[in-house]
Amino acid sequence: MGAYWLRLTTEEPLIVGQGKADSSFLTTIAYVPGRVLRGAWADWLLAQGKGNDIGSIIERARIWNFFPSREERLTCYTSPFLLSSLTCKREGGFLSEPEPDERGHGVVDVLLPELAYVLLSELYGPAAVPFAPRCNHKGCGERLEMGKGFFTAYRDGQRIRYARSQLSYHAQTKVALSRQRRAAQENMLYTATALVARGHSDQLVFLGRVHGDEETVRELCQAVSNVPIGALRRRGYGKVRAEVIHADGFGSLRTRLQRFNEVFENMWRDLARLFPRATAQPPEGIYFSLDLLAPAVLHQEGISSLVPTLAIGGQQVRPIFWITRPDLASGWSTSWGLAKPTDLAARAGSVYVFRWQGDAGCVIAALEELETRGVGRRCDEGFGECVVCHPFHLEVNEK
Ligand SMILES: [Zn+2]
Repeated sequence: MGAYWLRLTTEEPLIVGQGKADSSFLTTIAYVPGRVLRGAWADWLLAQGKGNDIGSIIERARIWNFFPSREERLTCYTSPFLLSSLTCKREGGFLSEPEPDERGHGVVDVLLPELAYVLLSELYGPAAVPFAPRCNHKGCGERLEMGKGFFTAYRDGQRIRYARSQLSYHAQTKVALSRQRRAAQENMLYTATALVARGHSDQLVFLGRVHGDEETVRELCQAVSNVPIGALRRRGYGKVRAEVIHADGFGSLRTRLQRFNEVFENMWRDLARLFPRATAQPPEGIYFSLDLLAPAVLHQEGISSLVPTLAIGGQQVRPIFWITRPDLASGWSTSWGLAKPTDLAARAGSVYVFRWQGDAGCVIAALEELETRGVGRRCDEGFGECVVCHPFHLEVNEK
């Protein structure tokens, strides 16, 4: 199975998810979960008279989630902000934003310094000074807060620039149609809020990954380009165009893992000066992070959990450090009103750090598998999409 980056370009406003049968509000989430595209693909196969083969055809691809992005030719990747990525409370935003209006005091990832600080404190603490990073931009000194939403990394010559994804919402009041009679129900009004492109020239685009063979991915693109997605389909919403694009992606896992450990060791050396008895090297092992791009439905001994346990080389491996928040994994209903189970989930952007003390080849193979299959349950719906050693963790200075 290959990994492909796909781009969805909206041709109509888009409403994804979150409607309730008894509610007079239909709202949207800010990204397109893989399960929505799977639903569109299934509808298309049905229309092609391939109803009997839907299950086996759809199983050939793992469709991940599609995140809003700005149209850029040389995209590396699009991602939700990680919970370890902080920005100035007063002037939030990237320094390298292409649009001057959107520029802020920078975004910095504190995972590696915080990890070094916490481990040093546990082993040699307490520290003389607390870990409390502040905005470093031209003496600003303001407190930092978590970045919200999504961003795109793209190539500009030799350097990587970052842009925060901008979304606009448009609300419209509509007359409800009776599901049974297909007629307007008296006095039934509701408000539908949709994602729309900003201005007239801007396109609303979403980027995401699909694992599968070339022919399957091509068929998926054809299906999604022919069947509107989300809610209020065929009522002027949900038409998109899907195509395979070239994107650099997150880079090879081996390289990410190596860089993650190098930067961590540098952080350790820097911060070890605050601890008189500390050694110059962190405790031995291969350190890696697991970063959630989508909510993950996790369990521990059968009980819902916000923290994953990984199985690597026959061992159960628990994280040594994490930043997570709770979220709900609700079911997407293609026809508005269909109830699906709701599970506790760890929020997208959650970050878990593990220390592996075995063989490097064994851990790399296990982590590649994890990136392809996802972590936790309900991965076929798009939950549990993850990246190992997310490249943004290396941005320990404001970007
Ligand atoms: Zn600032």
